[in-house]
Parts: sequence; structure tokens; C-alpha cells
Amino acid sequence: MVNQSKFLSCEKALHPGFSCDGASARILRDAFVSAAKIYLPLFFIGSLGSKKITDWRYVAFRLIPNVLRSSLFISVIGSLWCRLACVGRNQFGMHYRISYFIAPFIASWIGIIIEKKERRHELAVYVANQAVEAIWRVLESRGVVKQVKNGILYLFCISMGFLLYFQKNEPSLLSGSTRTLLRLFIGAESFPDAFEQRVERIYFKITDFVSSKILRRKPTSRRKKIHRIDSDSHSESKSNQICFHGRGGCAPYITIGFLRSFLLGVVIRCLFLFLPFLLTPKKLGKQVPKLLEKSSWSLAMFLGILGGGSRLIQCALRRIRGTEDGLNQFIAGAIVGLAFKFNQSTEVAMYVASKAAESIYFMMVNRGLIKPFPHGETITFSAATGFLFFVALLEPQNVRPSYRKFLTRASGGWWPSIAGAFTPVRKAIGIPSTYV
Ligand SMILES: [Zn+2]
Ligand SMILES: [Zn+2]
Repeated sequence: MVNQSKFLSCEKALHPGFSCDGASARILRDAFVSAAKIYLPLFFIGSLGSKKITDWRYVAFRLIPNVLRSSLFISVIGSLWCRLACVGRNQFGMHYRISYFIAPFIASWIGIIIEKKERRHELAVYVANQAVEAIWRVLESRGVVKQVKNGILYLFCISMGFLLYFQKNEPSLLSGSTRTLLRLFIGAESFPDAFEQRVERIYFKITDFVSSKILRRKPTSRRKKIHRIDSDSHSESKSNQICFHGRGGCAPYITIGFLRSFLLGVVIRCLFLFLPFLLTPKKLGKQVPKLLEKSSWSLAMFLGILGGGSRLIQCALRRIRGTEDGLNQFIAGAIVGLAFKFNQSTEVAMYVASKAAESIYFMMVNRGLIKPFPHGETITFSAATGFLFFVALLEPQNVRPSYRKFLTRASGGWWPSIAGAFTPVRKAIGIPSTYV
């Protein structure tokens, strides 16, 4: 017997209680308001670092128009998707799976054209990363691929290997945001940032104090100490000549690397714990014991090992291999990536992997191994979004829960009712799935 749900009208299966045009118009309005609420603080925080934020002309003529533009981009995709899905159902007389890929593909293509050109690349990488994970989950649910034990950990390790390689050897292949994040969390060998310089000053003050007051050693100026260590290391062996840190040799360099990243982890944890409760002092006090919980230190340990461990392994490899090439950074990144065990998260691993994949793509284009295809960003964004909408509607269990939450927020609350109403069609099509 043919399951009649396949033929349900779009009014029943997609937008119960609203006409096609009515639903489309309401999604446009609700998604626009919801997206503006997300984008306004986001763009505002993003501009805090620059002095422009105090200029009312910048806020009125740049920041707010950008917020409106990005909000329109999101709402047009949601609204058009719904309208095109209706067209598909009404044209073909039933719900065909393929129409739920084509509708979001076209909607995304039109939507991304509205968005600023500079943001398209970042958006394409973001959705491609989500789509790759969804493809994996779809294949896994069909038994085509099997879950690899610790697969996320290995993915993170290899990605970190590539990122550390690019950071040192071909930084131009890293996108601006990746370069900033690597510098922030791991630091840069040649140009210590202000935070690292501060940690370095405190470190040397403490070691000088311990050395002169507690161990009662003859006080030596830091300049002399650096000179001594450098000249010692120069005379030891040829391999040591490769390690020029200029700040007291390998041991302080590694320790400072660990401390700066560890402290950064503590600062981030404190911000997340206390910032949301700044205006409610009673609740703020209740947050303090949470800082002492073991889980609070996992991020700090993870970052500390990334920062200090990568330096330790690179210094050791320089001595062992007697050379400084990209392989040292790759190995260091891959080994130190094991610290991910302290703070494992699929989202972080997928983000790091997408950034590594993006740089590998740029490297292949640069070396002439592949040709960049025209409208690559638009095609990637549209295909990935099309696939994600397709899976989110037909096999919701195969998209990351955080993406479903994003769909709910970005659609102005429409997504759960659409996906819920679609349940009978989903069952009729024969895909074992539930809307959770
Ligand atoms: Zn309709
Ligand atoms: Zn060294």
C-alpha cells in the first residue's frame, strides 16, 4: 500500500497553519529579527579592538548596514528555501528527496550573493566543515564507514601538524583568522606578543629571586645569563646552533611557552565563568568553587601542553635531527595534538581540520597542482548548505545538535515546527529517522 504521506500538501508537511506566501514572508521577517539579534553583538564585539567603534559615523554607516546585510542574507535563505520547497512539492505532486537539496541549493546561491564578498570565504569554510561531518554521519548510519576509535583525536593531531608547519614555513597560506588564533593559543617563535613578554618578565624575576635569595647563587644579570647560555649552547654541538631563542635558551623558552598558554586557558575559563554573572554579584560568588573543579583546568592544561609541548618537541627535534625544516613543526604539531584528550570536542576538531584543509587547498593551488575553480566559494557554500538542509530535514539525527540549534535560532524559531510537521513524509520516504 502506498503511504499517502508522500503526497501531503506543503501546507501540512512544511508550514502548517500558513499559506505558502504567508509562511515565506513570516520566515523572512522572523529570521531577519533573530539574525540581527545574533549579528549585532557579534559585529560589535568584533570591532571593539579598533578605535573606529567610538566614531558614530562608523557605527551608523558601516557597522549597522553590515548587520542588516548579514541578517538579510540569513533570512533570504530561510524564506526562499521554504518557498522553493513548496514549488517543488506542487510541481511534482509529491515530496521528492532531491527537491529538498535543490531548494536550499538555489536559496543559498541567491543568499550568499547578498553577503559581503570578504565574508563568503569564511562562510563557505564553516558550512563545508559541517557538511563533511554530516556526510560522515550519513555514511556511518548506512554502515558504509565505521567509526574509527579516537578518530577525532587523530584528525586533530594531523591537522595541528599541518597548521604548525604552515605557521612557521608558509604563513601566507593560512587565513587571517587561523594566523591570529595560532598566535594567540600557541605563540610565535620570532615575535613574542605583549602577553608572552609579560609572562617572560615575571618568569625571570621569579627565577632570579629563587637563584639569588633562596639558592644563594651569585646574582647574574639577565643579559649575562642569556649570553652564557647562548655561548654554552654554541660550544656544545653543531645541532644546538639551530636553536636561537635569544631569551635564555631552550628551557626558559619552553617553560614560558607553557605558562603563557596555560594562563591564557585560565583567563578564558574565568571569562566564561564570571562574565555572564557580572551584574548579579550573588550568583557570581557561587561560580568561584567551579573554578576549582578538575574540568576547569582541562582547557588550561590542553593549551599549556600545546604551547610548551610544541616548543619542547621542536627544540628536541632540532638537536636530534640537526636540521630545521618543516618536518620538525609537522611532527611537533601531530604529537602535541594528543593533548586534545584533555579537552576533546568534535566542534573544535572539525574547525581545526577545516582550517588545515583550507591551507592545504591554497598550497595545492599555489604549486599549480590544482586550478582554482571560478565561483568556488559560492558553489561550496550552496552545495554544503543544500546538503545540510537536506540532512537536517530528512535525517535530523545525522547533523550536529549544535547545527540544529543554529537552524532554530537563525530561522527565528521556525525550524522545529517545519521539521516536526515533516515527520510523516520522512517516515513515508522510508528513512529511519526521528526528529529530536
Ligand atoms: Zn507551501
Ligand atoms: Zn630550543
